[in-house]
Amino acid sequence: MTPPTILPRTILHCALPIPQQRLFDYLPPYGASAEHLQPGVRLKVPVGGKRVVIGFLIRISNHSEWTEKLKHAHELLDHSPLWPELLWQTLLWASQYYHHPLGDVLNSALPLKLRKGGDEPLATSGFRATTLGISCDLSVLFRSARQQKALRLLKEHPQGLTVTFLKGAGIDLATLRSLKQKTFVEDIAVPRFASNQPVNDDLAQALLEAPLTLSSQQAVAFNQIFAARDHFHCFCLDGITGSGKTEVYLQLIHALQKDHRQTLVLVPEITLTPQTIRRFRARFRFPIALFHSELSDNEKADTWTQAKLGHARVIIGTRSSVFLPLKNPGLIIIDEEHDSAFKQQEGFFYSARDLALMRAHKEKVPIVLGSATPSLETLHNCQMGKYTHLVLDQRAGGSQQSRYKVIDTRNRVLQFGLSDLIIDKINTTLAAKQQVMVFLNRRGYAPILMCHRCGYHLPCPHCDAKLTVHKKQQQLRCHHCGYQAPLPHQCPQCQHDELQFMGQGTEKLEGHLQALFPGYEVLRFDRDALRNKQHLEQQLLHIDQGHPMLLVGTQMLSKGHHFPKVTLVVIVDADAGLFSLDFRASEHLAQLIIQVGGRAGRADLPGEVWLQTRQPQHPVLIMLLQKGYSAFAQFILQERQSAGLPPYSHLALLRAEAVQDEPVMEFLTQAIAQANTLVQQLFSDQPHRVIIQGPVPAPMARRAGYKRYQVLLQTQQRAALHQLLDKLTPFLESEPRNRRLRWSLDVDPIELY
Ligand code: ADP
Ligand code: ZN
Repeated sequence: MTPPTILPRTILHCALPIPQQRLFDYLPPYGASAEHLQPGVRLKVPVGGKRVVIGFLIRISNHSEWTEKLKHAHELLDHSPLWPELLWQTLLWASQYYHHPLGDVLNSALPLKLRKGGDEPLATSGFRATTLGISCDLSVLFRSARQQKALRLLKEHPQGLTVTFLKGAGIDLATLRSLKQKTFVEDIAVPRFASNQPVNDDLAQALLEAPLTLSSQQAVAFNQIFAARDHFHCFCLDGITGSGKTEVYLQLIHALQKDHRQTLVLVPEITLTPQTIRRFRARFRFPIALFHSELSDNEKADTWTQAKLGHARVIIGTRSSVFLPLKNPGLIIIDEEHDSAFKQQEGFFYSARDLALMRAHKEKVPIVLGSATPSLETLHNCQMGKYTHLVLDQRAGGSQQSRYKVIDTRNRVLQFGLSDLIIDKINTTLAAKQQVMVFLNRRGYAPILMCHRCGYHLPCPHCDAKLTVHKKQQQLRCHHCGYQAPLPHQCPQCQHDELQFMGQGTEKLEGHLQALFPGYEVLRFDRDALRNKQHLEQQLLHIDQGHPMLLVGTQMLSKGHHFPKVTLVVIVDADAGLFSLDFRASEHLAQLIIQVGGRAGRADLPGEVWLQTRQPQHPVLIMLLQKGYSAFAQFILQERQSAGLPPYSHLALLRAEAVQDEPVMEFLTQAIAQANTLVQQLFSDQPHRVIIQGPVPAPMARRAGYKRYQVLLQTQQRAALHQLLDKLTPFLESEPRNRRLRWSLDVDPIELY
């Protein structure tokens, strides 16, 4: 008899949702079967005393370097990996590239429901056509187009469809209930996997509306991208607003249906793109899956599952959709790729655009970066031959591009911040029954409350910032930490009641516009005025009706939406963008100016953009307005090159903050000493390969009661920076992040504060 084989010890190396890079070792849960223990499954594991957390299995071996006695994991939550292999590899890469703890990267990549340990949603409620419904003729529902549409879909899917699926197709519950009353449909509990049958192929290919005939420029773009469908290639679709980029996307998505391939479309802010989503819905017969922060946890988990099963052929989502699993990816599209909303600015500092590039690379699919104002990084990559530059410089449908006009405000009397030329122009525009859009990048009523008697102005008690007046709420608010206080009637310093509102924000401007242009409606668009998605959509619909009116708002107005009746755009103050310390400010100003111009007007009503500045001769403005965005971009790229700034160098920013200065300075000084030692060791031949600058106070040196400092790491060679960070992160992590000290590492920062 042969002796029983002694199984080697199985050690599970797990990433936990705690701020540490290293993995934690466990023994398998009792009774877990070896076939289920694969990288990418979740496990409940004990940490410390009594705490239990959900961790992720990363790898398995027979050896642990831990000297303590290993504990068993409590429970295995999945029977197969949550992520497909290539996405899993992308996530591992992201943790390394951003030097961010893997457990937290994986957590960020999951919908909350799964993060909390819930199951991937397998069953749900749905509807199915009854025998009567199947046999009846759609024309009996002639009174309701919605009911017709719902019943048509359900006839096509006799096995039934889930509520989420139907909602994705634009059908609401009320419609389904009416059909149920007529006994055309019945509700059912459906096992999701069975009900959300992969989209029927004939349906996927039969369109609801015919595609447009592509212009020659569009056809070139389409053909090149489609020809690359089986490998990785990055295209920059550099097309002015209205040049037909979306049409190219729609036709690519359709062309990929033959092979059941999925397209992931990333947009900066979903609430600002209802028109785009409507166009997708009008074209395709399969539902358009959405993924964004306004969905409920259940809805997000649903989209996750549908994407993973390959049932969702198109997913439109914001930043974190880059982590959605795809069964059969065919294309990734980043629309408005220049938008800073793709960069996560807290916790796990990642760029969804850059991550999507790596993902496309691993998945071997093409990626399209679309924009009317591509980022300088992207244009640089085109010049270097890494991306293919596809240009659409004609507006489709023959509409004209906006004209630009600079208003010199030096030595001019301004009324409520507006020059008389602009006021006249607004009057004539409104009188011609057209709409006007006024931009001011400052929320609130007034940015400063100052005492006329003693000059005291009210600062935020927790930040190096002044409090903004919000008049409607009779409040002072800090836009940096959220502090709020009632509006005082007396100066806290001299007790006199001569407080004055200095400067103007959108709330004040709204009132002034109302006074200047009585008889016309003024709608305000900013985070204070718009409470939710429904409200925003109502306002957009109201504007689309086309009555003459004024829209006033922050840069929110420049994103996504087209305003065909707006023929005049006013930028109240362009100077802030010209003189900011931030090296990207002029790039962002140029993008704003071109984007707003592109959203206004249409064929018979071309738009005009008037901008006020005290620097009419500023080379940035001249270049942009006389020669256009691409000449401007070349100009700024040259400046960046001579200054050694990105994309000609690579940056990482180490930020730290604490209530007192000392712990921050101590931590950062030690980090710098450590970094210098490492630089000597790693690059003894060339000690300047990575330049370390700091610690310096952050541009806002105190925020929310914390003193803030930072250290900038800069290099010409990305690899050198990562070599250094690989070695530096363990040192940083040895300093626990807690109330005493908080720190973060931002690789490829887009803001240097
Ligand atoms: P973009 O996404 O670049 O802003 P769109 O795809 O939204 O541009 O196109 C702008 C407008 O032009 C839309 O109304 C669209 O229907 C129309 N359009 C796009 N391509 C064509 C085409 N090839 N022929 C006619 N009209 C087109
Ligand atoms: Zn504050």
